[in-house]
Amino acid sequence: MGYIYLQPIGEVGEELLHYICTRLEGIYGYPCRTASSTGVPEDQYNMNRGQYYAAGIVGDIAERMPPDAEKLLGVANVDLYVHGVNFVFGVAIGNAAIISLTHLRPEYYGRNKNETLFRERALKEAVHELGHTFGLGHCPEIRCVMHFSNNIEDTDIKGIDLCGSCSAKIGKN
Ligand SMILES: [Zn+2]
Ligand SMILES: [Zn+2]
Repeated sequence: MGYIYLQPIGEVGEELLHYICTRLEGIYGYPCRTASSTGVPEDQYNMNRGQYYAAGIVGDIAERMPPDAEKLLGVANVDLYVHGVNFVFGVAIGNAAIISLTHLRPEYYGRNKNETLFRERALKEAVHELGHTFGLGHCPEIRCVMHFSNNIEDTDIKGIDLCGSCSAKIGKN
């Protein structure tokens, strides 16, 4: 059985990565490893938007997917976009995906720092994007982690777990 690899992009706290890895193992049943951090890919930076192109970064990291990787999840400490939207929490293409931490920090919304809330949000987005790599689409159940997050309120409403229907689709019960 291959690994779920976390690929930190830019400076990402070790504790956060460890927390996400451990929880992902429990949820998806694959062992998880963290690769060493890569720099922020400046060639994916869009100067007009002040953001990085999510799909471009996923393409880059997917090309260097470790041979023992089942899935690869970039954890980026930069703001990400795809065409047609203001920002994305994350994106998945094939067996690779990425999440951005930028919009997950309470400070981003003028609130007080809250590590517990921050890491829980990061985990939800990680589980969500990996869910796509396992073939899951968006779920109408608002408390299911596969529900689409349009904004941070949506992320806060949903749990970290797959609902019964989504779990059944990937053979986890
Ligand atoms: Zn999604
Ligand atoms: Zn669901």
